[in-house]
Amino acid sequence: MKTAQIYQDKIIIKDVEDITLDGRKGAIVKVLGCGLCGSDIVKFKHKIAKDGVVLGHEIVAEIIDIDSNTQFKKGDRIVTSHHIPCGECNFCRHGNVSMCYHFKKTNIIPGGFSEKVFVSEEHLKNVARLVPQGISDEEISFYEPLGCCIRAIKRCGLIPGDTALIVGLGSIGLLMAEALKALGYKVYGCDLIPERITLANKMGIKAFSSANLNEFSAIIREKTNDYGVDSVFMTSGADKAIDVALKTVRQGGKILVFSSTPNNNGYANNEIYYKELTVLGSYSPSPDDLKDSFELLTTGKVNVKNLTTVYPLDNIQQAFDDTVSNKIFKAYIKIG
Ligand SMILES: [Zn+2]
Ligand SMILES: [Zn+2]
Repeated sequence: MKTAQIYQDKIIIKDVEDITLDGRKGAIVKVLGCGLCGSDIVKFKHKIAKDGVVLGHEIVAEIIDIDSNTQFKKGDRIVTSHHIPCGECNFCRHGNVSMCYHFKKTNIIPGGFSEKVFVSEEHLKNVARLVPQGISDEEISFYEPLGCCIRAIKRCGLIPGDTALIVGLGSIGLLMAEALKALGYKVYGCDLIPERITLANKMGIKAFSSANLNEFSAIIREKTNDYGVDSVFMTSGADKAIDVALKTVRQGGKILVFSSTPNNNGYANNEIYYKELTVLGSYSPSPDDLKDSFELLTTGKVNVKNLTTVYPLDNIQQAFDDTVSNKIFKAYIKIG
């Protein structure tokens, strides 16, 4: 089977021996396609992934061999995520499921950018889902990334009528905006790249340039009765985005950190204190968030059409390069 492996600063297509069940409970799936996640890009760009690693986790796949006590059977088209929390440890009991050691240890093998993958019985039981007809492989591949957004939104504890601002309108920012809209909140967006602002507006997200921060914060004040927004979602990977958040969040509001930034700068201590702000992170989804994500996608409440650019597995390097250079929003690697 073909796999895409990391070697230094390249991604090489390698033929390796087919993965088989080999006595394990679970399923061997033929990967139909796999979304390219921002976290894959970070692992590649910052050389976090070791040589030989197969990245990718946003898979849509067809079961070709199975030994399982679940309802799944050969021929089923499924989606799955890659990590599963134990549900019992100190992290899990506090709702920090993505910090759970078991969560971090579990994975699909060898990784999504592969013609075949082993999906364990634990995955089948907890996070895999049968995909109904009528939704495309590309659309349902947003199962895991949308789950990430839903968890972030839940962590902000918004109430009906609340207003959110998305700082950074890349694919995950647009997805976050779509999810917030679907859940009934008012959403604004900002970015520095004009094409992104245009696309967001086309999708029905009121988006503005934040290049002139004073002008932009005046717009937000005007739209929010001078309060500022209840929650700011930081989907931008730029250090400067922090200034945007502090300037637009209302007193007592929340700033949800959803991306790393190059200089790893902090939020100003005194603003957090005097404005009673909450700055919090959200990383990866829980099984409950994935359930909600599946529901939103399969009922069409969140629209992810036209967000992806498709690349064949042999061209995966191009998909990484085009994502890094902001040429495209979201790459989907078509495999099977
Ligand atoms: Zn992902
Ligand atoms: Zn746990």
